[in-house]
Amino acid sequence: MALTGLIFNIQKFCLHDGPGIRTVVFFRGCSLSCYWCSNPESLDGNPCEDCREYSPEEVLKICLEDRPFYGESAANASGGVTLSGGDALCQWEFSLELLRLLKTEGIHSAIETSGYASGHIFDKVIDRTDLLLFDIKHHDDRRHFEGTGVQNGLILSNLKSACKKGKDLLVRVPVIPGYNDSAEDARGFAALLESMGIGRLQLLPFHQFGERKYDLLGLEYSMKNVPQLHPEDMENFMGIFTKQGIDCFI
Ligand code: SF4
Repeated sequence: MALTGLIFNIQKFCLHDGPGIRTVVFFRGCSLSCYWCSNPESLDGNPCEDCREYSPEEVLKICLEDRPFYGESAANASGGVTLSGGDALCQWEFSLELLRLLKTEGIHSAIETSGYASGHIFDKVIDRTDLLLFDIKHHDDRRHFEGTGVQNGLILSNLKSACKKGKDLLVRVPVIPGYNDSAEDARGFAALLESMGIGRLQLLPFHQFGERKYDLLGLEYSMKNVPQLHPEDMENFMGIFTKQGIDCFI
C-alpha cells in the first residue's frame, strides 16, 4: 500500500519555526492532550475540514516551490522545512520518507516535537533530521501527566538520547499560567537541563492564538479567560535560568 501522511496544513514563509524562511508541514495527530493546545484541529477526534492524505512526494513538491526563498534569510540561518503538528512522530514512517526526500534535495529539515515515541522510532527520525525543536511541558512527572495525559519518562529519555548523539537541539518550554510558571518550576526545569548538559532554552509564553479555533470547532476551551503572557511578565522566570548559567530567551 502506498505510504501517505495525514496533513492538515502546509504553511509557507514561516519565520518562527526554525532558522530562516521555512515551509511548515502540520501533521495530524498527537500522543499528548495538553489542555492549552493551540492547534486543536491537529488532534485526532477533533473536526478538521482541511485535513487530507498526501504522498511524501506531493509534500516535497510543494516544499520545492519555496526552495528559492530558503537561502534568502540572514546569513548562517538557512531556511528549509519544519515538520510540525500535532506531532510528526505519530506518523513516523511517513516522516522518515519525507525527511529522506528532503535530504536528497539538500534541504535543511527541522522537527517540532514533544519527543513522545518509543526510543527506536525517535532515534530513527532524529537521525534524518537536521534540527530538533524539543518541547518540554513539565519537569515533574505527576504534573506532566496532569497537563498532557502522559508521563514524561519516555520524553526525557529521548531528550537524553538526542543530547548523547550531539544533535543540533533547541529545548523549548511553553510557559502556561498556573501550570509551570512558578519560580519553583523554573528551578525544576533548570535542574533538569543542567543534568543533561543543556545550556540553552527558549521560553514560549502562553498566547491565545488558539481561542478562536476552539470556538469555530465548537470545542470547550479551559484557558478561555486566561490572560496571555508578555515578555515583561517573564523577567523573573527567565532570571532564574540565567542565574544558573542557562542562555534563556523568548
Ligand atoms: S504536544 Fe503540542 S500539539 Fe500535542 S497536544 Fe500538546 S500542545 Fe497540542
